Amino acid sequence: MDWECVLQGIEASVEPMRGQGKVADYIPALAAVDPRKFGLAVVLGDGTQSCLGDADELFSIQSISKVFTLSMALRVVGDTLWERVGREPSGSPFNSIVQLEHERGIPRNPLINAGAIVVTDHLVERLGSSKTIAELLDRIRRLADDDSIKVDQAVAESESLAGERNRALASFMKSYGNIKCPVEETLAAYFCHCSIAMTCRQLARAALFLAFDGCDPISGQQMVSSQACRRINAVMMSCGHYDNSGDFTYRIGLPGKSGVGGGILVIAPRHGAVAVWSPGLNQAGTSAVGSLALEALVKATGWSVFV
Ligand code: GLU
Repeated sequence: MDWECVLQGIEASVEPMRGQGKVADYIPALAAVDPRKFGLAVVLGDGTQSCLGDADELFSIQSISKVFTLSMALRVVGDTLWERVGREPSGSPFNSIVQLEHERGIPRNPLINAGAIVVTDHLVERLGSSKTIAELLDRIRRLADDDSIKVDQAVAESESLAGERNRALASFMKSYGNIKCPVEETLAAYFCHCSIAMTCRQLARAALFLAFDGCDPISGQQMVSSQACRRINAVMMSCGHYDNSGDFTYRIGLPGKSGVGGGILVIAPRHGAVAVWSPGLNQAGTSAVGSLALEALVKATGWSVFV
């Protein structure tokens, strides 16, 4: 594949759209990000990296961290995880509380806020809040082969100060017995993992194991079992983009996860991993220009799980 040509085509198709969408401002620390930023990185199984624009600039990975906490929890907790969280698309906004009452405190899936808080609670129950973050960072740094990756404390504090909705979700689930640790302890870890700052290049590199049956093709490390890997991809495919998941799958045809920081991670099984970042979001909270860039990428590469 002529990657230079693929990237040029993507750049040309997104250029007129740069700055589209609305930057998330419910977390004040995210509101200041320049909406015209755009970066993209593709990392292939042989380690080849192809990058565009602001691919080496740090951004807040936000909900994309939920893919890493889910991977870690499937390893640490195993399948009992699914007793406390479902795996159905929610069809609701990422921070919705309504379904929790109908479903007795069991969130629809691990990639919406309520579900990710339950996954985090599982980890905090076993490891405590600081060790959960330390081990998660250790895994991500090893995968990305970059020890500089860290939590952006200013974003974590800002999230915590503006975190009433997440406190409501956690307290509500606790009233059903589905949060085991003190709400603030679980949320401290949740706010921290959402506030990890990474570049597109680091993110695509760190997620490469998901494209190769759970085994990082460069280091040879088996990060999750092959079965767990397929399941994580399945959950990303059906639930990775809030109430926009069906449309995303229709347009892109690959498992992925969006974050309100404007990042999107996409997995192309047996090919590689792609991370794109552009802070302006569509109404559901997925990067507007980022999804256009991914549409251009799958068109140029022919990548799809349906071929
Ligand atoms: N930390 C954000 C929140 O809890 C994550 C939202 C997202 O990226 O979907 O609201």
